[in-house]
Amino acid sequence: MTTADLLRACGLSPTELDAAGADLDVHSPCDGALLARLRSHSEQDAQRAIERSHAAFLAWREVPAPVRGELVRLLGEVLRERREALGALVTLEAGKISSEGVGEVQEMIDICDFAVGLSRQLHGLTIASERPGHRMMETWHPLGVCGVITAFNFPVAVWAWNAALALVCGNGVVWKPSEKTPLCALAVMRLFDEAARRFALRHPALLPEGLCSVLVGGSALGHTLSSSPLVPLVSATGSVAMGRKVAVQVAQRLGRSLLELGGNNAMIVAPSADIELALRAIVFSAVGTAGQRCTTLRRLFVHSSIAAPLYARLEQAYAGLAVGDPRNDGVLVGPLIDGRSYDAMQHALRLAREQGGLVSGGERVIVGDGDGAPSWYVKPALVRMPAQTPVMHEETFAPILYVVEYDDFADAVAMNNAVPQGLSSAVFSNDVRETEWFMSARGSDCGLANVNIGTSGAEIGGAFGGEKDTGGGRESGSDAWKNYMRRATNTINFSGALPLAQGVRFDV
Ligand code: NAD
Repeated sequence: MTTADLLRACGLSPTELDAAGADLDVHSPCDGALLARLRSHSEQDAQRAIERSHAAFLAWREVPAPVRGELVRLLGEVLRERREALGALVTLEAGKISSEGVGEVQEMIDICDFAVGLSRQLHGLTIASERPGHRMMETWHPLGVCGVITAFNFPVAVWAWNAALALVCGNGVVWKPSEKTPLCALAVMRLFDEAARRFALRHPALLPEGLCSVLVGGSALGHTLSSSPLVPLVSATGSVAMGRKVAVQVAQRLGRSLLELGGNNAMIVAPSADIELALRAIVFSAVGTAGQRCTTLRRLFVHSSIAAPLYARLEQAYAGLAVGDPRNDGVLVGPLIDGRSYDAMQHALRLAREQGGLVSGGERVIVGDGDGAPSWYVKPALVRMPAQTPVMHEETFAPILYVVEYDDFADAVAMNNAVPQGLSSAVFSNDVRETEWFMSARGSDCGLANVNIGTSGAEIGGAFGGEKDTGGGRESGSDAWKNYMRRATNTINFSGALPLAQGVRFDV
């Protein structure tokens, strides 16, 4: 399929892709080709979208939750029909290999299924009252407009994690996607519109206009969302630097923020580990999505007794990695998103060398005939470090895997925890004392602590997120839905008296 056919299949029209007054050029990281010239939304557009979503929310909150679930079920249906096309667009615009592009859409479908079930399970508690003839309970209510700010590296799934839950919880959603991947967002909005059309056929007049929308443009639009009093929740995914700004803006107006920020993820490989399994997990976690996942494995702590053979196997595996255009079969490592990422990678490798690291890989790879703007492919880098030096405390969003040896398991756990970020972590060990330690209170301090599986590739059923600089938010499964609702505690008196709590007397 040609690029033009793909964009058309995703519902994007040629006039929209070459807009009058365009200020945002969209290039494919695969070959640098210019995909579109878009016009960013203005501050006024953003305010209008928020106001429309708020007005829509006032009606949507009264639609029964299982009926709201029907909208999300239809979204899942449309996504199933367009899985391959949207996946191919993710590959084209974000540079993921094809199976990861389609996998991201599958993740959207999975969270839609989860949210549909949830729409009948927004349960509150009943609570024993200390007073006779009284009952207490909790009720959960829709919150309002949810502002969703997303990063380039998951250009469609992160919206779905938020939107599927927010919609069944009775909210509106205004989305500010990354300025690097606006086409994916526009295509998703077309699919949402199609789901809305099908919903309206079954439930005329129940779905208000403007409930969900997308704002194309840069960080200023994210600022508009963060500072609007009509947006009670801002869910922001991206760098720690972005999260620090958004957190302050939202806190200033005492709003709620849900932050999913940078990771700096580690794995410990113990002497008892199944090395073949560990090897596969390491390579997928470290080089998948060209090292541009928030859960990418960046730090590897290997017991000194197995370090030499494991490192040799890793070098062998890295040498065989196919780097190339992610649209081609067999390719495992696609491009970096842009030249700035390439520069950041080279800078980190320079620092690593200065700090005693032995680097293999990391060089630029030229792919294709260089027709468009430059594209930025690299050989994933393996770096043997003498210790966990300062460069390892930073998240460099590129495929660099630092390897450090350890002798004592306690030291390995301490190194796992000794960085500012706290997203994902893993241990490969068949010693139950080590694996339980790793998952215990004195073990990994991350939001995700895995055993005999890599740091990346989470399922939607669990709550996803991390601690410390990662921001503390939890999205997706488990009880993450509670972020998107407000809780009311109700005390009901069905006695003929008015006893006060704690035995207080107040006779009037
Ligand atoms: P980024 O921080 O540059 O941009 C993310 C989004 O924030 C974009 O939409 C951007 O326009 C917006 N933004 C930037 N500054 C803003 C501001 N001051 N106010 C409001 N919005 C603002 O991140 P990126 O380069 O697109 O993505 C890579 C980063 O995202 C990495 O650090 C990665 O670890 C992180 N990430 C985290 C998760 C997670 O779940 N924890 C998932 C994906 C990516």
